Amino acid sequence: MSSTAAKKPGRNEPCWCGSGKKYKACHLPIEEAERQAKRKLYQAQDTLMPKIIEAAQGVPEAFPQAFSLFWKDQYSIEQMSELDDLEDRGAERFLTWFAFDHPLEDGKTLVETLADKAEANEPLGDFTLDEQEKELLLSWKSIRLRPYLVKEIYKGQGMLLEDMLSNEQVTVDDRAASRFVELDEVVIAHIVPAADKHFIAGSAAHLTPDTAEPLLAFVELHLADVRRNQADASWDHLLRERSYILNQFVQQLPREAPDPNIFEQILSNTRTALKLTGESLGQMVGLGKDKGEEEKESQSE
Ligand SMILES: [Zn+2]
Repeated sequence: MSSTAAKKPGRNEPCWCGSGKKYKACHLPIEEAERQAKRKLYQAQDTLMPKIIEAAQGVPEAFPQAFSLFWKDQYSIEQMSELDDLEDRGAERFLTWFAFDHPLEDGKTLVETLADKAEANEPLGDFTLDEQEKELLLSWKSIRLRPYLVKEIYKGQGMLLEDMLSNEQVTVDDRAASRFVELDEVVIAHIVPAADKHFIAGSAAHLTPDTAEPLLAFVELHLADVRRNQADASWDHLLRERSYILNQFVQQLPREAPDPNIFEQILSNTRTALKLTGESLGQMVGLGKDKGEEEKESQSE
């Protein structure tokens, strides 16, 4: 908790700031207004997501292409209604990814399109956004599907996640997830900010701890592939271009009993599909190293 909360005085005591005024006549109303504003943003997170999902359902013409990327041609668009059974919350996961990650005809995602319209005060179709929802939407434009490791669990509250690509840590508020997720599991989700908290937007996939290493190897193969055309491509580039590969990985895992051979198979298939050899990999993936080296070389003295 913040330091102001720790030394919070009584209503009629002198304010903690040293103004000499009573707390109730100084910082108390300010702090209450701040808390109220934050609460409204947390609530807006709950009401904004269904609107985004609804908006996603308003552009069905973009579904077939997005569907074939996300599900790697395994399902047809007609199976959308069965997907929640076929794949754990599959339809909801698809729609969340579609809204945040899939570029529409003009290259912008649905969330980017809605945010730009909201910013310009243009109509959004069948729904409107309140002030808080609009503020959130604008801050969600850059959010993409990402893989995280569960580092700590706060039962009934949330969890500490570590971004597997940037290694940044984030505390996520999610009562439900905190009950079924286990330590070291992989969570593939859209983590969105709201005021000083973070939440899981829509539906997340969560995988057993043994998937973490092969998943990282899998995305490294794809990064190597992207770097063939763009040598300095970062993880963010990769995710902007093909975050759907994360779902393709999830989709290939067995749903019942674990299969230790599946990872080798996935990686070997991916190498073949991307036509990547061990040598080309080594050249293209300098992961965790300073990427500024090449730029320096091109500068003359
Ligand atoms: Zn004060």
